[in-house]
Amino acid sequence: MTIGSFRGFLRHLGDTGRLGVAAEGVALAFTLAAIAKRRDGERAVWFPRPGGHPVPVVAGLAANRAWLAEAMGVAVDDLPRRYQAAVDGPLPWRETGDAPCQEVVHERPDLGRLMPIPVHNEHDSGPYITAGLVIARNPRTGAQNVSINRLQLSGPDRLGILILPRHLHRFYDAAEAAGEALPIAIVVGVDPLTLLASQAVLPLDADELEVAGALAGRPLAVTRCLTSEVRVPAEAEFVIEGRLLPGERASEGPFGEFPQYYGPAGDRQVVAVDRVTHRRDPIFHTIVPAGLEHLLLGGIAREASILAHLRRSFPSVVNVHLAQGGVCRYHLVVQIEKRWEGEPKSILMGALAAHPDVKRAVVVDRDVDIFDPNKVEWALATRFQPDRDLFVVPGVQGSRLDPSAADGITAKWGLDATMPVAREGLDFVPVHVPGEDDPRLDEGLVPAPAALLARLGSG
Ligand code: MN
Repeated sequence: MTIGSFRGFLRHLGDTGRLGVAAEGVALAFTLAAIAKRRDGERAVWFPRPGGHPVPVVAGLAANRAWLAEAMGVAVDDLPRRYQAAVDGPLPWRETGDAPCQEVVHERPDLGRLMPIPVHNEHDSGPYITAGLVIARNPRTGAQNVSINRLQLSGPDRLGILILPRHLHRFYDAAEAAGEALPIAIVVGVDPLTLLASQAVLPLDADELEVAGALAGRPLAVTRCLTSEVRVPAEAEFVIEGRLLPGERASEGPFGEFPQYYGPAGDRQVVAVDRVTHRRDPIFHTIVPAGLEHLLLGGIAREASILAHLRRSFPSVVNVHLAQGGVCRYHLVVQIEKRWEGEPKSILMGALAAHPDVKRAVVVDRDVDIFDPNKVEWALATRFQPDRDLFVVPGVQGSRLDPSAADGITAKWGLDATMPVAREGLDFVPVHVPGEDDPRLDEGLVPAPAALLARLGSG
């Protein structure tokens, strides 16, 4: 069973004690994000009347890997494989005229009045929409693209936007070269599966909304925008319809980014807002930048893509994980069923090349839980010798947001923490107490009774 609805997922979190409600009227500048961050990964938080605004804000609904696995209806360690199955088997969307996201229409919108937009990190340039799915159509082919871009509130009907050199950027370049604006929709308040799908690693002209349908197991209902041909999720809370203006740049940033440092200010593209539509009683979603929701949404899509990439060449690869300590981007762990010596180093070369952001890769054996950083460290402590099992590749293209890299040029390192294939006797046999994995042995264990405590005395 998957949970492909924003409200349904919040309800599910609430029913299971994972949705906290903040006090009324929490300040939109910093306090809202601070409260959400203190409960990051543990509770989603509902903010009634934030800053006195009638629209509530929700944060942290996708801030836990186990919750996302629940939304997908899969086990946690099966997330990357099942995500990739959706990427490989997209489901075309279904168009509907019955669109809750268009229940209310604002013709001359003032974004700051219509939406409670928080200021998150200390040195952010101002309020940012951080959970906005930017949807655009390729001007040449009409195929759609979805990405989450940071959106700075620059005026009542103006947003500054950071567009990385990927698909949206190509659409914009084509429109700008023709002297035309690129129509876009910015969608806020979508279900966790559509959020996850927005981060899918796809070729140009593959529509992320079709991955959302595949993740949910049924076509996503979409509707046409009022001012353009862009199709948006019909169940969304808010839709901002606008245009990326040609030949216009304005200051955007700084902004706290996923590596948990600031991305600098620069002259960036500008969105002119034409319409805002929303549900009758909308809910605004914010992703606290550099928090777990931000890290995980991008991390899981990358894990899926890296796993598929590695398994094409190396069938002994079992699973991969982008560790949270490496901001779910930079530190990869690869679990393998090792067959021969030398194989881990081949896999490491593939892993370091699988995504520019991967900076360190560690290969471990099948018996190591790659989702437990202590177990990975144990493998490094006991199965790895740096003079023999480590290599460094200097001068590689990496993440521009890594502040230790020189304009995105980085060194990458591969670490083989696997056991030798040839072992005898008790070589590399982990200690194990028979019964330690048996939960039935917990039965009968009770808190220390008073009589026992009295016997222990007070000294
Ligand atoms: Mn794309």
